[in-house]
Amino acid sequence: MLKRMIGAAAAWMMLAAAQAPQPTAAPAAEVSLWRLDCGEFVINQYGAFFSDTYQYPSGPKDVVGSCYLIRHGDRYMLWDTGLTDALVGSGFSNAQQTLRLRRSLVDQLRELDIRPEQIELIGISHWHFDHTGQARHFPQARLMMGAGDLELLRSPNPPDRDSAEALAHWLTGGGQVEALTRDHDVFGDGRVVLLRMPGHTPGHHALLVRLASGPVLLTGDVYHFTEQVENRGVPPFNHDRADSLASMDRFDRIARNLGARVIIQHEPADIGKLPPFPEAAR
Ligand SMILES: [Zn+2]
Repeated sequence: MLKRMIGAAAAWMMLAAAQAPQPTAAPAAEVSLWRLDCGEFVINQYGAFFSDTYQYPSGPKDVVGSCYLIRHGDRYMLWDTGLTDALVGSGFSNAQQTLRLRRSLVDQLRELDIRPEQIELIGISHWHFDHTGQARHFPQARLMMGAGDLELLRSPNPPDRDSAEALAHWLTGGGQVEALTRDHDVFGDGRVVLLRMPGHTPGHHALLVRLASGPVLLTGDVYHFTEQVENRGVPPFNHDRADSLASMDRFDRIARNLGARVIIQHEPADIGKLPPFPEAAR
């Protein structure tokens, strides 16, 4: 008898739960993604610069630098901060490469009516100077970056003084820092996720942005240009070859499983995968 009553009570509770009005889920935040111009490069000896297996011919190659603005609801995040804006109007050349920057990030944000103080978050894929250059204009922002890369920049002899200077505000305790050791879901709803992809540097991350129109994967420097996806090209200026190959494998599997639009940040041909600035993908 008791058993039957418990059974009946359980059945009633299940029925009641099914009929109870469900709490209304908060409407999903609208997410927008802009590509911002963060530089142009001519690499003079493409083969030697980009391959540790003599994969590519000698001669020059053009690549670009890309940063991205993400709006999640009414919150703003930058992904990478490009070459230093000291290059605007001057440029730089040495035996290896020529660097150019047409417009600063602050200037491009102004065109979108966004003030630098409105940037709440900065995610940086890795410590190289072409990804950190303009962070200093957003000191109020919380910096999200791989712990291994932060550790290198904080060491007494950082591998790149320009990057250490560009991020000095955060490295020395002036700004909020999230030192990441794993994937990081930025807004807690899975829409914008830093994906741990070590190899190019110890703390390297890529970025997943889930737009209403479909997921987008931004490579950081897991890849520098399209050919590398097929030929698993690893540049000599790389922290750990095995980690790089494992990260390429993970990146490709995520792209395949989600059916994501892959954007190689340095690849000129991939600029057209997002609407032209000042338009955004949604
Ligand atoms: Zn780069």
